[in-house]
Amino acid sequence: MKTTARTVKADPAKQPFKYPLQRRYIEPDWRRLPGYKDVARKDWESALWQRQHTVKNLKELKAVLGGFLDDAFLADLEADQRDWATMSILIPPQMINCMDEGDLRHDPVRRYMLPAASDRHPEWPSHPMASRDSLHESDMWAVEGLTHRYPTKVLAELVATCPQYCGHCTRMDLVGLSTPQVTKGRFQTPPKERFEKILEYLRKTPQVRDVVVSGGDIANVPIQQLEPFVSALMDIPNIRDIRLATKGLQGLPQHFLQDEVRRGLERLAKKARQRNIDIAMHTHINCASQVTPLVGKAVRAVLDAGFRDVRNQGVLMRGVNSSAQDMLELCFMMVDHARVMPYYFYMCDIIPNCEHWRLSVAEAQSLQHDIMGYLPGFATPRVTCDVPFVGKRWIHQLADYDRVKGVSYWTKNYRTSIEHDDPEALSRRYEYYDPVYTLPPEGVAYWRSQKAKAPAR
Ligand code: SF4
Repeated sequence: MKTTARTVKADPAKQPFKYPLQRRYIEPDWRRLPGYKDVARKDWESALWQRQHTVKNLKELKAVLGGFLDDAFLADLEADQRDWATMSILIPPQMINCMDEGDLRHDPVRRYMLPAASDRHPEWPSHPMASRDSLHESDMWAVEGLTHRYPTKVLAELVATCPQYCGHCTRMDLVGLSTPQVTKGRFQTPPKERFEKILEYLRKTPQVRDVVVSGGDIANVPIQQLEPFVSALMDIPNIRDIRLATKGLQGLPQHFLQDEVRRGLERLAKKARQRNIDIAMHTHINCASQVTPLVGKAVRAVLDAGFRDVRNQGVLMRGVNSSAQDMLELCFMMVDHARVMPYYFYMCDIIPNCEHWRLSVAEAQSLQHDIMGYLPGFATPRVTCDVPFVGKRWIHQLADYDRVKGVSYWTKNYRTSIEHDDPEALSRRYEYYDPVYTLPPEGVAYWRSQKAKAPAR
């Protein structure tokens, strides 16, 4: 029989994204920063030391960074805190240590944790349709702090504080200290009573099977309070999935390495296993430089405790992780080194003063395209749009898109908890808005005319 020799021609072609990564998986030496030059490893790795030395204002930041923070940039940061900031400053040393002190102006961690006035867009700092609590989470509270938006899952906000405050926080309405521009809302009910009301609601609502326990950040809930709450959730027969949400796993990994916290998490994971309940941790890492061995060690501790998974829900932000290069590098750092599963990247929500971070839906679609095919399918994050009154939608799921006005239209297949008597809830189209500065001139002109009629909310 005649055979044909096949030419072997496959080789690892030159690719737009280069793998293996050039970035190393190391803990940057904190002693390079003037304020930390005498800090011993024992202190650095202590959660208490990190909390006690968390930077709360620009004076403290200057003391840490010394000459790396020049006067002009310091003034730029001051102007932002005074005129624009929706979040007050709170940055643990662990996070400062992930910044490039030699180029603070362009450093992506600085850019999202500590915005400067010159970062904000000069004409469109806010979208005309921006609003506090843009996702209407508090409108959908079943009891104070418990958002019931989806049919089978809820979000329980246990605290309104975090170990760190991100400049873009979508819960800017409630989370953190007031800033000169934003007076924060407050929970009215004392925590113990509120937690009990949340549990009561879930006991009498068998439609709910899935609880995201969040805040704020669960790293700010003492384990002596977190453990009984989560344990009580597991006693409710309808609860089958529990996710604990914490950015602190990256911002303050030392918290999760404390013996008391580890033991509490172990007991919870053991009970979850016995009850056949899924328990996982969700974190929020936005930049490759934030994936360090201490973060990996904390993730390991959570997995060793028996949690099913640690997944990342990042926020997509211009100049932070908006290129395919930056996003793939971050995802590979997470999967190769820290055992964090890339899961979602949310579009930055339409809150006041956040336009410089936001991308258009078209840009997000293009980014999703550009990251496909490199990571394993199960570790390829979905770029997701949280559409007001709808919920999460994959970025290609829109029903229609006016590229001139930058308005995308979305539909949904369930009612939120406040729409039981709304006959149009399932047929209506819900809108999401691109940043105006990404639009063609006719689109910009349209929004200028809208803005003139109705000033930004
Ligand atoms: S950790 Fe989450 S809740 Fe806390 S400030 Fe950052 S984005 Fe907001």
